[in-house]
Amino acid sequence: MKARLISVIVPCYNEEAALPLFLDALRKTGAELYDEFACNTELLFVDDGSRDATLAVLRDAARTESNVRYLSFSRNFGKEAAMYAGLQHAKGDYVVIMDADLQHPPAMLRDMIATLNAGGYDCAAARRVSRDGEPPLRSFFSRRFYRLINRISDTEIVDGACDFRMMTRRMVDAILSLREYNRFSKGIFSWVGFRTKWLPFENQERVAGETKWSFWGLLVYAIQGIVGFSTVPLALVALLGILLCVAALLTVVYIIIKTLLFGDPVGGWPSMACMVMFMGGVQLFCMGILGEYLAKTYLEVKRRPVYVLSETDADADSTPPDADSNSRNP
Ligand code: UDP
Ligand code: MG
Repeated sequence: MKARLISVIVPCYNEEAALPLFLDALRKTGAELYDEFACNTELLFVDDGSRDATLAVLRDAARTESNVRYLSFSRNFGKEAAMYAGLQHAKGDYVVIMDADLQHPPAMLRDMIATLNAGGYDCAAARRVSRDGEPPLRSFFSRRFYRLINRISDTEIVDGACDFRMMTRRMVDAILSLREYNRFSKGIFSWVGFRTKWLPFENQERVAGETKWSFWGLLVYAIQGIVGFSTVPLALVALLGILLCVAALLTVVYIIIKTLLFGDPVGGWPSMACMVMFMGGVQLFCMGILGEYLAKTYLEVKRRPVYVLSETDADADSTPPDADSNSRNP
């Protein structure tokens, strides 16, 4: 199947500085893609509750350019929610997710379309070949995270895989059929299966603005990934419990024998205090792991929506949302 419409989903959070540059770049790329593949591109921006002029820039772009659409959230729901909303609203035969900061080179769209058009693949995804330019501590923990999650999860999470990927309609529909609230896309993309072609790319500098990820944010994201795609920590907790029981039993036998052989001098309370504290710590730690799963379950059963829309391009002008999706690029 050859694509007639490519949807480009762009999550934006406080990207007023980067957006004009992004729009410029995509305008050019869109025209090139039309010439080469005879396909139109629609740009679907998702304003993730930005506090700057991002929404105003988007309103403006949607008014002047027929292939620009936008959704705006009522508050910041996170990039995962923005990607989900984008996938739900995209109409294209192929759908691609791109960052607004031009860290994902638009030139790669060509290769992605060519890969999917050739058949055999349902996804063409960018994969970073190096972590140059990233703080060393962040690289170190990222690598550890990928090693860990791939050991304890059945779903493969590829190191260096970006959210920058183009997917066919059937893969997008499969992703949308996963309705979980705690979304970890790196896992979801891999869980739905389909053949993915990895396209290597070098880390690019952000064109403007600054990254939204703090170390703490990444840590929370990593824990969400582990809890979402593996129950091995729960099994480890049980194993730890059994091991400690065995150790306790051996200690009891040792104490009985020692008492029978050497009598029962009162002593050893410092080691007892240490044991009590150690066991308390282990128990709290294990309860914490259980609690993490319970908390996620609690959030899932509430069935809250992943995001809340406050405005879309359809509100801004009263043209029906379908009206301009097949128009030619400017
Ligand atoms: N983003 C978002 N919601 C957020 C944080 C980020 O939609 O809460 C968007 C952001 O505007 C950008 C993309 O996600 O288009 C990637 O964010 P960023 O560049 O900060 O991440 P990095 O490239 O540093 O991993
Ligand atoms: Mg970025």
